[in-house]
Amino acid sequence: MSCQHTVDVGAYLFGSLDLKERSAFERHLSGCAACQAEMLRLAPLPGLLGRLSLEDVENLDEIPSCPPEPHRQRRVLIACAAVLVLLALAGGLFFLRPAPSSPAPTWAATDSGTGVDGEVSMVSKSWGTEMWFKLGDVKPGARCKVIVFDRQGQREIGGWWGSDHGPDERIPGSTSFRIDQIDRLEVSDESGLLVTLRP
Ligand SMILES: [Zn+2]
Repeated sequence: MSCQHTVDVGAYLFGSLDLKERSAFERHLSGCAACQAEMLRLAPLPGLLGRLSLEDVENLDEIPSCPPEPHRQRRVLIACAAVLVLLALAGGLFFLRPAPSSPAPTWAATDSGTGVDGEVSMVSKSWGTEMWFKLGDVKPGARCKVIVFDRQGQREIGGWWGSDHGPDERIPGSTSFRIDQIDRLEVSDESGLLVTLRP
């Protein structure tokens, strides 16, 4: 799905099309899925990030020596450049945003059936959650794994390890779910569920 007019979306959103171009573009937009999608993608930017460099874009209308067609193309190019700058800024803002500063929670449980006791400390990360497990009374020589369930019922494998570790050794795991999205962690080995850890 592509359309040569998608480049006009940035110019349209920044108000740098003239009345005739504007209404022509609006007519086109009503029937073009590619431009509508591009519009949805870019529409929040001018509102969110203010009018950065929009004045520059509009002032180009007053440069007298530009012939009409290259003039318009240049305007569109600059509008597109402005959109790219805004996208980069939005990306920068996103990555600079500090991680939520909740204290690292620890969940612990002892399973009455298997006798296995488990504990996990969780650390909030930009990519999800880092997990550090401690497990006691797991039979040696087992291959363990943890399955992470989120509140929507999605699941991920959060780690695999062998059970021949010291009782105080910490085992790392990870998941893309944020801490507040995690419903429970199920630690199991070949024989089945060993212990479930919950908030
Ligand atoms: Zn189009």
